Amino acid sequence: MVCGEGSIFVIILIIGAFYLHRSINKERKLQEQKKNFLLSVTHELKSPLASIKLLLQTIQKRDLTKVQIKDFIDKSLLDIERLDDMVENMLLASKIDNQSYTFPKASFNLSVLVDSIVNRLQLTKCDCNQMIINAEIEPKIEITGDKFALTSVVTNLIENAVKYSKPCQTVDVKLFAKNGEVHFQVADHGIGIADEEKSRIFNKFYRVGNEDTRNTKGTGLGLYIVKEVLDKHEASIRVKDNRPEGSIFEVVFGLT
Ligand code: ADP
Repeated sequence: MVCGEGSIFVIILIIGAFYLHRSINKERKLQEQKKNFLLSVTHELKSPLASIKLLLQTIQKRDLTKVQIKDFIDKSLLDIERLDDMVENMLLASKIDNQSYTFPKASFNLSVLVDSIVNRLQLTKCDCNQMIINAEIEPKIEITGDKFALTSVVTNLIENAVKYSKPCQTVDVKLFAKNGEVHFQVADHGIGIADEEKSRIFNKFYRVGNEDTRNTKGTGLGLYIVKEVLDKHEASIRVKDNRPEGSIFEVVFGLT
């Protein structure tokens, strides 16, 4: 009997130790991700600010032509937009986490929204003045949703496609209605996503690789926001491989 009780005690102890070890590991991983997040945010804030400062100082100190000044101002505006997108993402992520945000829905024209985001993000990475986003947007697609949050979904998916591709590589954006559903697709020819990473990339702060090997800018919040916002709209998202390389993100809004 003593032997039986002893072994039950040992089994309980082992199970307890296992769960304790697992939760400590989880906590450690979360702390690590938070630390990486803070480092990325600091870096993400500092680099566009440094670039804007330098551009403005150059305009102030040097005798530049009108064309040069316009070019410097355009570059500064791109950096400011990047900062703006990042702040929007952080605000939205904190609203989602606090559950204070109700995702107010209203009917709006998604075609106009996608078109305006595509126009804004054209040429952001390409110095060869060539259109890198090919858009096929069916006009007059109306949906009922939170325009502010869905702006973030569309922006994040297109920005990622451009970011994880080589400069000047094209990105295909499609918006169409089919069988009462609305489809939004973003396809790139970039670095692609390994199968084992496909389910993880929607986790908060998750970035593929580690901080040392990663050379793209980012905070790991974009796809987390995308997934959360789409869940609130009963819309689905899936990611698949593009051919010969790259990724395709497909969003489907349910029957309209
Ligand atoms: P980040 O700020 O790092 O871009 P996201 O949440 O938007 O954060 O994306 C999470 C990770 O998923 C990225 O760090 C990247 O590794 C991967 N990823 C996202 N979109 C793409 C894409 N179009 N091609 C390749 N990898 C991608």
